Amino acid sequence: MLSDEELLRYSRQIMLPEVDIQGQEALAKSRVAIIGLGGLGSPVSMYLAAAGVGELVLVDFDQVDLSNLQRQIVHTSDSIGVDKVLSASKALKQLNPTTHIFTIKSKFTQAQLPDEILQADVIVDATDNFNTRYVLNRFCVRHKKPLVSGAAIGLSGQVTVFDSRQPNSPCYHCLYPEGHEEQPMTCSESGVLASVVGMIGTVQATEVIKLLVGFGTSLVGRLLVLDAKYMEWRSLKLAKNAQCQVCADQKS
Ligand SMILES: [Zn+2]
Repeated sequence: MLSDEELLRYSRQIMLPEVDIQGQEALAKSRVAIIGLGGLGSPVSMYLAAAGVGELVLVDFDQVDLSNLQRQIVHTSDSIGVDKVLSASKALKQLNPTTHIFTIKSKFTQAQLPDEILQADVIVDATDNFNTRYVLNRFCVRHKKPLVSGAAIGLSGQVTVFDSRQPNSPCYHCLYPEGHEEQPMTCSESGVLASVVGMIGTVQATEVIKLLVGFGTSLVGRLLVLDAKYMEWRSLKLAKNAQCQVCADQKS
């Protein structure tokens, strides 16, 4: 049951027939794990807290650096040198004190999968390296967790949803098979426009809310690609690889 204060706080969202009181209550009962509290994790975490997601699990091993602040908007100048999970947690509690926040200062590795992540309804990939993405993908396929995946670099970005609960959903490995990849450039190597990570991150947040409330059509089977220089979005069909080493034997 939502309190009077919550009904007022979320009134503009509850007004939407797609959300309504039931949808808002579903958000309040949901848990989302956000892996990476950088340029993508910042808008994702802020919008999910503001929108009324009940529990957020924040995972990041890093500390806030001056050069992060141009795009990692959940952190402020006061937080330089502070663990990103603590800095983000403080900001998110100010934004919405009703959101319960768990912080895990760690790299996402298979050896350490705390219960906080196992119990998440949706996982957000907001990291910037292939190794973590592969670990995350295998975890989500094995445990049938929807994975909302985003990436941004320079003036471009891409976003999609992998949902192993759906038999035809591709996984990250279908898109980028392990062993064939070259390690992608990171923002620290090639630069990124501040608002471009915001554009991709807010699409990720919107997809998470849709999955939790259960309306609309998700990005499962589609890769949305942004070219911000000419401001074009393209939607590319993404098929499951029948021979995928990670998800092909997952029948249901
Ligand atoms: Zn696959």
